[in-house]
Amino acid sequence: MVSTKHETQKNILLYINGEFTPSLSGMTMNNINPFTNEQINEVAEGQADDINKAVAAAREAFDNGPWKTMKLTKRMEYIYRIADLIDEEIEKIAYLESLDTGLPISQTRNMVSRASDNFRFYAGMVENRLVGDAYQVDDEFINYTINVPVGVAGLITPWNAPFMLETWKVAPALATGNTVVLKPAELSPLSANLLAEIIHKADLPKGVFNVVHGYGEIAGDALVKHPDVQLISFTGETKTGSTIIKNSADTLKSCSMELGGKSPIIVFEDADFERALDACVWGIFSFNGERCTANSRLFIQEGIKDKFIDALKIRVANIKVGDPLDGNTEVGPLIDKGHYSKVNGYLEIAEAEGAEVISGAIPIEVAKGNFVAPTLILNAENHMRVAQEEIFGPILTVMTFKDEEEAIKLANDIDYGLAGYVWTNDIKRGHRVAHKVEAGMLWVNAQNVRDLRTPFGGSKSSGIGREGGHYGFGFYTEQKIIHVSIADHRIQQFGKK
Ligand code: NAD
Repeated sequence: MVSTKHETQKNILLYINGEFTPSLSGMTMNNINPFTNEQINEVAEGQADDINKAVAAAREAFDNGPWKTMKLTKRMEYIYRIADLIDEEIEKIAYLESLDTGLPISQTRNMVSRASDNFRFYAGMVENRLVGDAYQVDDEFINYTINVPVGVAGLITPWNAPFMLETWKVAPALATGNTVVLKPAELSPLSANLLAEIIHKADLPKGVFNVVHGYGEIAGDALVKHPDVQLISFTGETKTGSTIIKNSADTLKSCSMELGGKSPIIVFEDADFERALDACVWGIFSFNGERCTANSRLFIQEGIKDKFIDALKIRVANIKVGDPLDGNTEVGPLIDKGHYSKVNGYLEIAEAEGAEVISGAIPIEVAKGNFVAPTLILNAENHMRVAQEEIFGPILTVMTFKDEEEAIKLANDIDYGLAGYVWTNDIKRGHRVAHKVEAGMLWVNAQNVRDLRTPFGGSKSSGIGREGGHYGFGFYTEQKIIHVSIADHRIQQFGKK
C-alpha cells in the first residue's frame, strides 16, 4: 500500500531511444502540487531538438527495427507484458496521479486500474479483429485489403486523466505496429514518466516508444510539424485542436481529435428521481469536474424542477472537499492556479449574467490548494456564457424545459457535441431523444459507463474521428488494397501495329 503522505519525487527525464535522458538544452520545468502549490520536482523540458531526436529514434525503429515485422504473437507478448506491469503498479500510479493532478485517490484508483485493460483489449483486437476484406470480381480478379501500420505516431495528451488517456492512445498505436512519440501534458508528467519506466521494463525494442515532456507550444508544436510523423492523436481543448490541424497541414498528417465538451443531461419528470440525481451529481462533480464528458448542463423538466434543485443543494453542501490523497475526499483541488482563476472567473461571469450561484464549502485547512467548491448555477439561460462555454470545473449550470421538443432544441443549441445523457422511464422517448441530441456518445438512464469495444469521440466542435474498438484501426493503420488478376483481362494495346 502506498502511503498517503506527499512523498518526495525524483526529477523526471525524457525517454528517448530506450534511455532516460535530460533535455539537450538542459532546461527544466517546475512541477507543482495542486494541493499545496509547492514544487513536486523538476521535469526535463523538451524543445524542438529533443522532438527531432525522439522522432529520429521512432523513425529508425519503424523503418529498420523489428517492431512492425515481428511475428504478431511476439509483438502481443510485449503488449500483454506492459499490461501486467501496469497492474503491479496500480497503487503507485494512482498515488502519482492524485499527487500531480489533485484528482481524489478513490477515483484515480478506479481510473488507472482500467489502463492495463487498454493494452489487453488492443492486443485482443489486433489478434482477432484486425482483418481485411476480399473482393471477388467476376472470374478476373481477387482484390483484398491488408492493414499496415502507418509510421511514427505523435500522441499529445491532456492533464485531466493523464494515465488513462495516454494508455488509451499508446496501446492501439503500439499494438498495430506503429512507433510512438508521446508528448504528455506539462502539468501532469508523473504518471507518463512511470509509463516510460514500465515500458522500459517490458524491454521493447529501442526507439519504439519515446516520451518528450515539454510545453505544448514548443515540444507539442514541433511534433505536430515534424515531417517524419504521420499521425497526430490529440486530446485537449477545442482551440488547441484547431491550431494543431492548421499546423499539421503542411506535412499532411492524419489527425484524430478528441476535444472539449459541454454535455447536456436531460431529466424528464418520469425519470427515476434518485438514480438521475446520483448520476447527475457524479457526472459533474467526479474528477473535480475536470472531465471532458461531464454533464455540465442540466436540463430539468419543469414539474420536478424545485424538488430536483433542492436535492442538488443538499448534495452540493455535503460533498467532501479536501486532500486528494485522503480516501474519503470526493472533490480535490484544480490542476493549477491558472485553471483555478479561469473556473472561479465563471462564478463572477454567472452573477454578472444574472444567474444565481450556490456553492458548497471548502474546509479552511486546505486553503493553500486550488479549490473551487462544488457549485450550482441556477436561473441560467442557454445563451449565457456559463451555459455555452466549457468551464471544466465542479460547476453545474441548471436550466429547465417544458417538453421533449424544447429539451432537444436547448441541448443542441451549442457548438459542442461530445456526450449527452437522457433520463426518462418512457423507453420510446429515451431512444428518440438520444437519436436527436447532437453528440457523439449518448447514455439513456445511465451514467458514463464505457465499453472499450464501442466508438469514442465527439461531433461538432468536440472532435473529429473515432477511437476505441475496431474504430481506432481506421486511424492507426493504413488500409491497402491489392488487386490480383486471376485471368487474362483485357489490356489496351497502345502503339501496337
Ligand atoms: P490543452 O489543449 O491545453 O492541452 C492538451 C495537450 O496539448 C497538452 O499536452 C499541451 O501541452 C498540448 N498543446 C498545447 N498547445 C499545443 C500546440 N500548439 N501544439 C501541440 N500541442 C499543444 O488541453 P488541457 O487543458 O490539457 O485539457 C483539457 C481539455 O481536454 C478540455 O477541453 C477537455 O474537454 C479536453 N478533453 C477531451 C477529451 C475527449 O476525449 N474528447 C478527453 C479529455 C480531455
